[in-house]
Amino acid sequence: MRIKKGDTVEVISGKDKGKRGEILKVIPKKDRVIVEGVNIVHRHVSPTQDMPQGGIIENEAAIHASNVQLVCPRCDEKTRAGVEYLEDGKKVRKCKKCDEDIDK
Ligand SMILES: [Zn+2]
Repeated sequence: MRIKKGDTVEVISGKDKGKRGEILKVIPKKDRVIVEGVNIVHRHVSPTQDMPQGGIIENEAAIHASNVQLVCPRCDEKTRAGVEYLEDGKKVRKCKKCDEDIDK
């Protein structure tokens, strides 16, 4: 996967198509990501000491990584990241549209 926590992505399919948000969590084993504000599920919780009435908690559920596309922080376009290696062996991700370093 070429996206990681903190990246901004746009949803490209499903009910949240077109929404943008920051990656809150990556689950590499399942190829899934949790994106801020995307795929919200409501969970009913029983009353607790903190919440004597019980209530509904809103939570982002994971979506498949193939349903999102990286948004370049430089040119603000949906893009793909290309990986390049620097002379010292360090890996950098570059935007295929504007050729800028995504992680700068
Ligand atoms: Zn770009």
